[in-house]
Amino acid sequence: MAEDTCKHTWKITDTRDGFIVAEKCFHCSQVREYFASERTPPKEEYREGPHYYNYMTSAQTIQFNLRCDKCGKVVALRNLMAIMQCEHCTEDCPLHLISRTAEEQKMWVFGALCYAAPDGSEGTLDLEQLLALNEFFNARLKSPGKKILILPSAFRASASDCKAIILTDVGLLPEEDEE
Ligand SMILES: [Zn+2]
Ligand SMILES: [Zn+2]
Ligand SMILES: [Zn+2]
Repeated sequence: MAEDTCKHTWKITDTRDGFIVAEKCFHCSQVREYFASERTPPKEEYREGPHYYNYMTSAQTIQFNLRCDKCGKVVALRNLMAIMQCEHCTEDCPLHLISRTAEEQKMWVFGALCYAAPDGSEGTLDLEQLLALNEFFNARLKSPGKKILILPSAFRASASDCKAIILTDVGLLPEEDEE
């Protein structure tokens, strides 16, 4: 099968602009995040079961799928809401520790932020999705010796603590000369 041997050339397809919205329950402090494709992020308070969600923050983001130019294979990424980078939220945020360690190896680490699982735990991409995303971003990287590693965002300390940069569009990579 062509698909099995194809050295995929991923292109972005089926893009959707929107916002990643974070809300917090003012009773139990549970944070929930979701993708909203509205023109402006929704900010109304609402109740769901035992929770009272309040708007916390939002950031522009883009949803997309990846399609191979050569064999036509599509990797759907509809559960991916945004790609984030830990901005050193706490000393011991695992994602920060991984990022800092990787930086020394000239590698940028990002978290793939997904819809939460039904039980509220952090969602994650599967291996095929992660591999395709990593191939896509690394293929676009111009500077020699640099690498990008996209990991499940579940490595972050917590949704409420990990102050993250959200990449507003997939062309937005860190500056070359970032310290
Ligand atoms: Zn292919
Ligand atoms: Zn609650
Ligand atoms: Zn963090």
